[in-house]
Amino acid sequence: MKKELLRGLPSVDEVLRGEGMKDALKRHSLSLITAGVRAVLDGVRAEIISGRRSEFSPEEVLPATAEWIEAALKPSVVRVINASGTVLHTNLGRAVLGPEAVRALELAATGTVDLEFDVATGKRGHRDNHVEGVLSALTSAGAASVVNNNAAAVLLVLNTLAEGREVIISRGELVEIGGSFRLPEIIEKSGCRLKEVGTTNRTHPLDYASAITEDTALILKAHTSNYEVVGFTSEVGLAELVEIGRERNIPVVEDLGSGSLVDLSVFGIKKEPIVSESVAAGADVVTFSGDKLLGGPQAGLIVGRKTFVERINKNPLKRALRPDKLTLAALDATLRLYLEPEKLSETLPTLRFLSRPLEEIEAVAKKAKRLLQEKLGEGYTVELADGESVVGSGSLPGHSLPTKVLVVTRSTMKPEEIFKKFLSNDPPILGRVSKERFLLDMRTIERAEDVVPE
Ligand SMILES: *Cc1c(COP(=O)(O)O)cnc(C)c1O
Repeated sequence: MKKELLRGLPSVDEVLRGEGMKDALKRHSLSLITAGVRAVLDGVRAEIISGRRSEFSPEEVLPATAEWIEAALKPSVVRVINASGTVLHTNLGRAVLGPEAVRALELAATGTVDLEFDVATGKRGHRDNHVEGVLSALTSAGAASVVNNNAAAVLLVLNTLAEGREVIISRGELVEIGGSFRLPEIIEKSGCRLKEVGTTNRTHPLDYASAITEDTALILKAHTSNYEVVGFTSEVGLAELVEIGRERNIPVVEDLGSGSLVDLSVFGIKKEPIVSESVAAGADVVTFSGDKLLGGPQAGLIVGRKTFVERINKNPLKRALRPDKLTLAALDATLRLYLEPEKLSETLPTLRFLSRPLEEIEAVAKKAKRLLQEKLGEGYTVELADGESVVGSGSLPGHSLPTKVLVVTRSTMKPEEIFKKFLSNDPPILGRVSKERFLLDMRTIERAEDVVPE
């Protein structure tokens, strides 16, 4: 039976010569169709052998091939509507770029640009020059460098300044960031030796001072981005660390994680460490992310004393970790928005979402509630309720922002099933299940239509 079925299968060539192929060939290339037919026939064969299939008709091949081709050509990266309430969602690509950054990206993507070329002199330029000026101006640092992400920035800085030597860090700051960034591992991979001081909840100036030896290359301070140490705690501030470092001629490096270029409390959000304050407090090098609170593309930003940044740029690893023209174009455009900080709540999507007035969120929520109720029909209830959004990406831990959510319920469906229903939409709509309810957080939704499934 199986053998007979297998023997009856057409060859790829037979299918290609068969009826209907002429039409298909007008739409797609021969190589794609051939690959499709082969995949379909392989699939059928495997099903017959495993016993999952007991019949076959040659008419099946063409429609199945058409389906295979459609799936193969569908882009893998698709838009996802973020109604999760996490503004900087790492799994959704963190910051949404503003129109200026998008224009810069398009320009860089569709043409050649002066990436490492100085148009004024006609000579070779340097890719970091495009953002170094504005970054230095915004942070008052002497120099700046850019790499692929902040993890790369920490790796590069440590490898440059402390390879083969000791890096002192408080036990309270040995952070793990989601997606396998663990500071102790990065320190080790940088070729440095980790020297932990203090305890999880308390570290004192003397802990640092007495840990310094001949072998100490630098003192590292890391922002505990995604957690807070509360209760009986004590940490040594940056300024104090700088003092300890200066006495013994040991540089102090701060990994700010998210960091911010402006005081977020102006926008009604809890203050996150500001890069210029770390520079002013005397940090020799400061690193932070491009796509967290800064609101730009994925990048690792390094600012600090010129002599250190020069050494960092000369490290061969810099070449391996450098950003491409698309990143630099988008970063350049994003950083320039900070030259007009008063306008940031309009020009920078990340800050726009974080500082969005509740009335505005509610207005969109009300419209979406009506549209959703109409679309989903009788069986569903859609209610407007108060909720809480978070910043995400390890920024402002333990801090939530009041928001408006739509609670979608149906007596015959579990919240997880409604969650999946919205996610199976094209484009997928990502809500969240909280306290046995399915919610659509409207903080990051600007068009009510976006949360209404097809
Ligand atoms: C997020 C974070 C990192 C990693 O930054 P990426 O840009 O995601 O590579 C490193 N250190 C701290 C403290 C962070 O918060």
